Amino acid sequence: MKLDQIERALSVYPRARIGFYPTPFHKLDNLSRQYGVNLFMKREDMAGPASLSGSKVRVAEFVIGDALKKGIDTIITQGAFLTNSGMQFAMACRKVGITPILFLTRDEPRHGVLEEYRGNLLLDRLMDVETHYLKAPGSAYVNIPDDKQRVLDAMLARKEELESEGHNVMIVPTGGALPSGFVGHMLTFKEIVEQSDSEGVSVDYIYHTTGTGTALPGMLAAKLLTGNPIKFRSISISNYSPEYWINENIIAERVEGIIAGLGQKVPAREDILREINVDRRFIGENYAVPTSESLAAIKALASNEGVFLGPVYSGKGFAGMLDHLRSGQIEAGSNVVFLHTGDTANLFEVNGVTGFTTPF
Ligand SMILES: *Cc1c(COP(=O)(O)O)cnc(C)c1O
Repeated sequence: MKLDQIERALSVYPRARIGFYPTPFHKLDNLSRQYGVNLFMKREDMAGPASLSGSKVRVAEFVIGDALKKGIDTIITQGAFLTNSGMQFAMACRKVGITPILFLTRDEPRHGVLEEYRGNLLLDRLMDVETHYLKAPGSAYVNIPDDKQRVLDAMLARKEELESEGHNVMIVPTGGALPSGFVGHMLTFKEIVEQSDSEGVSVDYIYHTTGTGTALPGMLAAKLLTGNPIKFRSISISNYSPEYWINENIIAERVEGIIAGLGQKVPAREDILREINVDRRFIGENYAVPTSESLAAIKALASNEGVFLGPVYSGKGFAGMLDHLRSGQIEAGSNVVFLHTGDTANLFEVNGVTGFTTPF
């Protein structure tokens, strides 16, 4: 498949136009000089419809396209209390006139009692989103089967209630991870290649923060289908492992699903797995707990380039990339793109460990 055939191939899927695409792509001149590489940034944080956005809007465009076709009027989704996907799905729903409902999990001893609305919670409140809070001991991410079931049961109960009142309700899992949405980030890949081409640059690496596994499958499917040599480097904020709800095989399955859905030849599993490179060393103590590296990375980008990352996801991803650059894992002179997936509003969240906004 050629790069310019991607958009046509995706036209078989219903899509709600919500974001501003293509998102910007630009060089980070000062950090490039400091690190001896050509560093670029792809700005999914500027995807719209609001200025505080992120990588889930691409996913939401296709999930919501499908929902509108099915006559859905209410979308229930879940996430950790700092969820970007929940906030972005709420924005996307508001834009198209679907009612968003959020079920958010929080480990109170670790992440603090919810007393104030800041960060994404404030944005959810401004959008007048019906929000339900559930405790999730151990982590704000729900991994324990019983807890997972508890959240699902709560969402199903609300769904049933609304259906009995005549509503058409769709449940969207954490991160917006529905097969209908995974194709969205094929377009991110296409834009990166086109935008770097027009600057006369051929990209060697794409770095990004990975968690729920919604951006990588589409980008990787597009890479494989177009035979592009770009390599992916994923910095994880969740503990990818065989027994966890997200891991390399799940990503590979999603890639296979995208390619099969487009009627193209699916590569062998091991050829897909070879392209997936997840670094788990930058998670730190827990989800939403900043690390010294992530705080330094956020500050480095802000003070050198005037661009803001977030403390839950993109700061940790950027920290991982800077570590790879410093430790020589990336050859000098390489062309490196960091996918800014958003998270900026979480700079203004209350951190449960310190009780204050992210401590710089
Ligand atoms: C959801 C999210 C991620 C992780 O994205 P996936 O592609 O779903 O793994 C990274 N950064 C931000 C800001 C996010 O909201």
